[in-house]
Amino acid sequence: MYEQALSQDDVAESELVTRRGRFRAVAFRAGGYEHMALVHGDPVGTDRVLVRIHSECLTGDLFGALRCECGEQLSAALDAIVREGSGVLVYLRGHEGRGIGLVAKVRTHVLQDEEGLDTLDSATTLGLPVDIRDYSPAAAVLRYLGVRSVRLMSNNPDKIAALESGGLPVVARVPLLVPANDHNIGYLTAKRDRLGHDLPQVGLFPQHCTRAAE
Ligand SMILES: [Zn+2]
Repeated sequence: MYEQALSQDDVAESELVTRRGRFRAVAFRAGGYEHMALVHGDPVGTDRVLVRIHSECLTGDLFGALRCECGEQLSAALDAIVREGSGVLVYLRGHEGRGIGLVAKVRTHVLQDEEGLDTLDSATTLGLPVDIRDYSPAAAVLRYLGVRSVRLMSNNPDKIAALESGGLPVVARVPLLVPANDHNIGYLTAKRDRLGHDLPQVGLFPQHCTRAAE
C-alpha cells in the first residue's frame, strides 16, 4: 500500500495533445512503479470528478485483444471524460493479469485455451494469486491533483473500497460495460460470477451457457 502523499520529486507533468483532445499528462512514481494520470479540463478542487482507474493490460490496451475488455474500456473511459469536458484517467502499471505480471498472464492464457480453465482457475493452477492489485497509487495521485470526490467508472466494487480507504469519497459508480462477444464471454462470466463485478450485459449474451472459458 502506498499511503504517503506524492512528492514533487516523484511527479512530472506536461501537456499532452491526443487525437481525442488536450490532456495534462501527470507521470508519477508510487509503490515501485511509474504510472500516469491523464487529466482533462480542470478538476482541481472539485467534487464528483469523473474518474477511471485503469489497470495496465498490454495485450488489451495496446494490441486490442478481444479476450478481455480492457482496451475497449480504456477507450470508452477516455471518450466519456472528453465528452464530459473534465475528468481523470489513472493508468496503473504493475497490474498485468490482476498483478501477476505479463509472462504469468500469458501462461494463464495457455491454460485457458488448452484446458478450458477460467481466468481465476488458470491463475491458481499456476500457484498464483487471483488479484493482488494495489490501487493506493491512484488514491495518492487523485489527492495530489486536488480531486475532492469521485464518480468512478468501474464495474468492480474493490476499486470503490480501495479509493475510499485511500481517502477519496466515491459518490457514484458509473458502469463501463463492454458488449459480450464470443471471445470475452468466458472472461466476463468469471468476473461476474466469481469476482463480484456488476456486468449485466453478460446475461444478455445468448451463448453464455455454452462457453465455459475463453
Ligand atoms: Zn485485459
